Amino acid sequence: MIDHPISYGRQYITEEDIQAVVEALKSDYMTQGPRIAKFEKEFAAYLGSRYACMVSNGTAALHLCSLALGIKEGDKIITTPITFVASANGFRYTGAEVVFCDIDPDTYLMDLDKLEEILCKSPRGTYKAVVPVDFAGYPIDEERLRHLAEEYGFAIVVDACHAPGASFTDSKGNKNMVGGCQYADLTCFSFHPVKHIATGEGGAVTTNDPKLYERICLFRTHGITKDPEMLTRADGGWYYEMQELGFNYRITDMQAALGSSQLKRLDWSISRRNEIARKYDKAFAGTALKLPYRQDGITHAFHLYIIQTEKRKQLYDFLRENRIFAQVLYIPAHTMPYYKALGWKEGDFPVAEEYYEHCLALPMYPSLTDAEQDWVIEKVLDFLRND
Ligand SMILES: *Cc1c(COP(=O)(O)O)cnc(C)c1O
Repeated sequence: MIDHPISYGRQYITEEDIQAVVEALKSDYMTQGPRIAKFEKEFAAYLGSRYACMVSNGTAALHLCSLALGIKEGDKIITTPITFVASANGFRYTGAEVVFCDIDPDTYLMDLDKLEEILCKSPRGTYKAVVPVDFAGYPIDEERLRHLAEEYGFAIVVDACHAPGASFTDSKGNKNMVGGCQYADLTCFSFHPVKHIATGEGGAVTTNDPKLYERICLFRTHGITKDPEMLTRADGGWYYEMQELGFNYRITDMQAALGSSQLKRLDWSISRRNEIARKYDKAFAGTALKLPYRQDGITHAFHLYIIQTEKRKQLYDFLRENRIFAQVLYIPAHTMPYYKALGWKEGDFPVAEEYYEHCLALPMYPSLTDAEQDWVIEKVLDFLRND
């Protein structure tokens, strides 16, 4: 028996991570120093993207994408209701009208057939961006999305906050890392403590487009540039210009040091998460639980291990009594009072709402011990037996 609480996710900080932060603290820079550029280079190299821009959090990353794409009041974007509200909010900040698209009942990702139904009803260019979420760590079909983008004229902004380290194989047989942006225009990540890389707060945008990259960097730092190529005058070495109304969305050097240190363990973390998933799969095979969807050619990042059960509330409460803090993710965004006030209502997305009634995320993080996982499994099976 395990007598300490077990949460659905948590950060894993090693002595090496701590040393990396200590070194940053002893250096000349707390922010805007060399550790940020280093982390950006390493992260882009890992994903295979041309550029990575480190920012203060994942929500800022999404907001910066909206700014960089020039999305403004009255423009429309499409996202999924089964996500953290930030996926939609990042675009609301620039005035976008957010349209939701229902999810696929197996992958729980944006249903691309339903997306096409929405797109084909309006003239090309009606929607400025489509923002799919690699929910739980399962990558969206970016290749199909690219075909739709060519046909209907929108930018692809993948919210991959759950999916650093995930990959998919395209029709040419090539392996694509999520965030490598072979098909997407922009990809966003978060380094919140429950995510794969934990820097406290932190996030990133990756892209292969030099123009978008330039704008993301500009909006990250107040809209200010010192780049001689971009300046309208040259008063002297001190001279800078504010060219846009930007923000302070910078990350610090301490956080970047922590990110670089953890990036070294990302592959290990993904394989450990997959090992935990396989053990759950095996333990719950043949029960009434619906288990996560799998497909060949896909590396699932397993940010979350989601089950579905008819007795979700009872199982949630039973696990809590045993100090196992499983979590319900997510309450559909369109049912939030804020989005309801914009015209959405219960019943708009039946698949998402049905999912929400039954979903539960079991503990899933790389430092979950075998004994802890055995305890979680035992309690879930106890519940199913006594039910
Ligand atoms: C965590 C998360 C975000 C926001 O990231 P923060 O770093 O917390 O701002 C956005 N989208 C999804 C899907 C997330 O899980």
